[in-house]
Amino acid sequence: MCPAQDIEKIDIKSKTLEELKQDFALLDQPTYKARQVYRWVHRGVTSFEQMTDVSKPLRSLLDQKYYIPVAFIEKRQVSVYDNTVKYLFRFADGECVESVLMQYHHGYSICISTQVGCKMGCAFCATGLGGFFRDLAPSEMLAQVQAAQQDRGVRISNIVLMGMGEPLDNYENVLRFLELVSSADGMNIGMRHISLSTCGLVDKIYDLAEKKLQLTLSVSLHAPNDQIRQRTMPISRRWPMEELLRACRHYASVTGRRISFEYAMIAGVNDSDSCAQELAGKLRGMLCHVNLIPVNEVESTGFHKSGGIRLRQFSRILEQKGITVTVRRTLGSDIDASCGQLRRRRLQDGGVSVESNGEN
Ligand code: SAH
Ligand code: SF4
Repeated sequence: MCPAQDIEKIDIKSKTLEELKQDFALLDQPTYKARQVYRWVHRGVTSFEQMTDVSKPLRSLLDQKYYIPVAFIEKRQVSVYDNTVKYLFRFADGECVESVLMQYHHGYSICISTQVGCKMGCAFCATGLGGFFRDLAPSEMLAQVQAAQQDRGVRISNIVLMGMGEPLDNYENVLRFLELVSSADGMNIGMRHISLSTCGLVDKIYDLAEKKLQLTLSVSLHAPNDQIRQRTMPISRRWPMEELLRACRHYASVTGRRISFEYAMIAGVNDSDSCAQELAGKLRGMLCHVNLIPVNEVESTGFHKSGGIRLRQFSRILEQKGITVTVRRTLGSDIDASCGQLRRRRLQDGGVSVESNGEN
């Protein structure tokens, strides 16, 4: 995770302010300096040198003890339609993940990755097809937000944990990231501006409910029953839909937050009228919302997106049954290789970046 020379050093960006204060006490440094340093780290500096109001001796002491993880831009694609920016970020060990920066009328939102790869193996997903490499540290999740902000000179106000990886399979690091990114001396992005998407790790949904965070939980459903879900999502063998939906009802009632169900429409697989009716029946009475999206066609999966007429008909049936639905706006349609595809292409081309850094 860190360069060879940094092996003994500690990741300062993954530390909470309280932990840093304790470290500073052990270093015989006043605790107000811990806050000063914490603020610099969370403003996105890439070296201790940049902490201009910290004394030189303290900077060099910190440099001996800690390192600051950063995300380097390996590749950047900018949509000509709507300024959506897709990044391939590289970490110190050479591993890469994708993030997508989107501009909405209310500000900037970023979709970040939580793991390099994913263990869950969903059949339609480019990340799932590539397998799992490692978890990301909390600092590496923060670094994606910071690098995008610095690259575009903007302030990001919303975060979506919907890039590569299964956030609830990297539970402790994701929770720590949430604590750091929402801290008053950090980026101060409130939980109401954060969404977390899961394929349905039921035990972790219960754990998360206990935390009573005000974030939005998105659940990737993509099917109205286990039979269809098992065709595309191996996790449904571990956690059947009935248990998943029970956990979702529990989450909604404990937190008072509406669950957002993701449903990728795959032609001939999960997009029939009877699928819509069955889905509506299962969600009846739940505080929820359904996001329909035509599946992104990933090479070699054999799945194709449903047409516009099918999409509208499906959505109409849900609405008639009292379920609120949106057909998700696809941003950056010209660069819309779904998450995982940029990295996949890079690996297939022998591990070298196929296009140079910078805009295309
Ligand atoms: N692992 C988490 C979050 C990352 S995937 C999860 O599965 O929820 C983010 C979202 O993209 C999920 O809703 C996932 O089902 C969806 N997704 C993955 N591949 C897709 C594809 N080819 N087309 C449409 N949605 C896809
Ligand atoms: Fe993993 Fe989510 Fe892709 Fe499934 S859809 S393989 S859970 S990243």
